[in-house]
Amino acid sequence: MPRDHRPAITPVTHAQAQRATDANALSLGLAGWLTPTTLVTLLPSPNFNDRPDDTAITLLVIHHISLPPGQFGTTHIADLFLNQLDLAADPWFSCLEGLRVSAHFLIDRNGHVTQFVSCDQRAWHAGVSSFDGREQCNDFSIGIELEGTDTEPFTDAQYASLAKLSSCLRARYPLLAVRGHSDIAPRRKTDPGPFFDWRRYAGLANWSEAALPPQT
Ligand SMILES: [Zn+2]
Repeated sequence: MPRDHRPAITPVTHAQAQRATDANALSLGLAGWLTPTTLVTLLPSPNFNDRPDDTAITLLVIHHISLPPGQFGTTHIADLFLNQLDLAADPWFSCLEGLRVSAHFLIDRNGHVTQFVSCDQRAWHAGVSSFDGREQCNDFSIGIELEGTDTEPFTDAQYASLAKLSSCLRARYPLLAVRGHSDIAPRRKTDPGPFFDWRRYAGLANWSEAALPPQT
């Protein structure tokens, strides 16, 4: 074929290249930890244990947290998950004394992802909970905390990172559904709350209708 008849190669624009880079920015290693990048920090928490043998990881749980409630950008959440919270730093913290909790991930207001527990391990995020007739959701779920409250919207950067992280996790684990903490512990918990836009998240993360909480 004469050279002139070859299909034209469309130059990749800078924006396209940037999107390609972003799409590959999260990489989950074989041990269930993300690869650290400018977007990802690893802070291993002692608050985890083994999942029961042969438990498929089928549920993603979305939470929100801020410490003290309504204040953003502090290190208190990470400190809590690492059992290093200074209880004297705020009067509200007294109710957290002795608490041993963790989530697999925290996404801050800037979209930065911190991982505390390997996805292959059982993080202590859901507490007394039930999904689809099964108790102890920590056994078979991955927990993601968004820095936020029940009273204000989450940020664009948080939705972008949450979608990216969800896609990364779905590529590795047989996740069948996503729920809010309030869906699996309805009398105890309200998070991720009325300002979490399930429709927006589902569209970005490409969740099917059947995978979403029923009321969304
Ligand atoms: Zn929660």
